Amino acid sequence: MRLQVKDVSFTYGSVPALENITFKVSGGEVLGIIGPNGSGKSTLLRCLARVLRPRTGTIFLDGKNVAALHGYELGRMIGYVPPPGGQAGFPTTVVETVLQGRRPYLTWGVSRHDLEVVSAALGYLGLTPLAERLLSELSSGQQQKVFLARALAQEPEVLLFDEPTATLDIRYQLEVMALIRRLATEEGRTVVAVLHDLNLAGRFADRLLLLHEGRIFAAGKPAAVLTPANLRAVYGVEAVVTEAPWGIQVTPVAPATAAEKEARKEAALARA
Ligand code: ADP
Ligand code: MG
Repeated sequence: MRLQVKDVSFTYGSVPALENITFKVSGGEVLGIIGPNGSGKSTLLRCLARVLRPRTGTIFLDGKNVAALHGYELGRMIGYVPPPGGQAGFPTTVVETVLQGRRPYLTWGVSRHDLEVVSAALGYLGLTPLAERLLSELSSGQQQKVFLARALAQEPEVLLFDEPTATLDIRYQLEVMALIRRLATEEGRTVVAVLHDLNLAGRFADRLLLLHEGRIFAAGKPAAVLTPANLRAVYGVEAVVTEAPWGIQVTPVAPATAAEKEARKEAALARA
């Protein structure tokens, strides 16, 4: 399914958070969204999930305006996993939470097929032994896996993940990114993932969108976006970028301010 974002802007009160965002993602692709804290990544994802309504601009799914879809249509097409933390709510178990993912499909009740899908999603994320546990009694990383499982159980064509690996240990960071990769490559789903880890972004995304102060600063293949110049301009760091066999690797070395000051001083000395 083709997700097309055209000229989307969003404002919290009078504070602009997104300005003129335009891009496309197709089925089979993983688009990574990167950028510093407060650059608008989560706001963009919430607009795509229709949690927020853009002030201007339009979002299309296979040419259909997302704003015009019925709730159940939206639920079958778009799965959204919010960022970790702050989702306590009332006490539910792991399996009940994952079953919520089937809600867009339920007619007279839970079918055998629904239970099979839920069971597979639990298995995928290694949650089967925790199925009857209360969500509130799990670690944040375990909770994060439950929300990922709920999105899988929803079986949407488009999956939106906000920092899906932020609370996971290194093994599950790789497992979840590999799973996200498979959803696109093997199942042809459309994936947009906000990724705060630039190394995972450089390794698992097909293309990256680098946000800076609510605008797209750079877009393209990881090697074209994760450059020392872009990282300096947007994150304010001096970074070493290398190309490992598995993908682009970024090592932040120092905040750019000190290095920039030094460079300016050297330039001034050279002039004198
Ligand atoms: P990111 O996910 O890249 O860290 P966000 O999309 O969460 O950034 O935030 C973008 C900007 O919008 C920031 O300046 C942030 O302070 C502001 N913002 C985010 N959520 C709200 C909100 N609920 N109310 C007002 N301002 C917000
Ligand atoms: Mg965010």
